[in-house]
Amino acid sequence: MADLCDIAGALAERERAAILAGLTRPAAEGADACQVCGEEIDAARRAACPGAVRCADCQNDHERRRDRRLRTGV
Ligand SMILES: [Zn+2]
Repeated sequence: MADLCDIAGALAERERAAILAGLTRPAAEGADACQVCGEEIDAARRAACPGAVRCADCQNDHERRRDRRLRTGV
């Protein structure tokens, strides 16, 4: 049975891989417009998050829903 350190290590590794995948993705794969609301993605956000496909508002909303799903399992 995996202990807490194993689980934390696996999560950190997965997170790191996801970040690296995002960083190595060509910038052209990022979106100029949010794929949710269609608004232009702020240049600062695109620079900070290459490959971002949602504007900050929609990303926050997405993460809130994802966190709620993870907490409640719904
Ligand atoms: Zn949006």
